Amino acid sequence: MNDTLINKTDDEPEKRQMYVLEETGFNEVPKKFRRFYRKWGGPSETLAPNEVVCPVCKIVIRSMQELRVGDKVYCMPCMSRLIVEEENGLLVARVNY
Ligand SMILES: [Zn+2]
Repeated sequence: MNDTLINKTDDEPEKRQMYVLEETGFNEVPKKFRRFYRKWGGPSETLAPNEVVCPVCKIVIRSMQELRVGDKVYCMPCMSRLIVEEENGLLVARVNY
């Protein structure tokens, strides 16, 4: 009975909020992946808790769940592997070497 190991994430103090993603017209990746990316409106734009800006190509990467520090995300438009970090209370992505 190894089921307890699989259910370990249920012990997280807070459940992550899930998001339904819709296409926003971003067309630089195959259609199947378009809803995971969108163009960034610039520094004045407030990002949703499931969004983070790619520091390389300045595209917004969208996750189906709320992002947290330590999450790994992939930017398909520029093929960067990124890790989520916190900076001044905001989530930012850094290139994960
Ligand atoms: Zn990128």
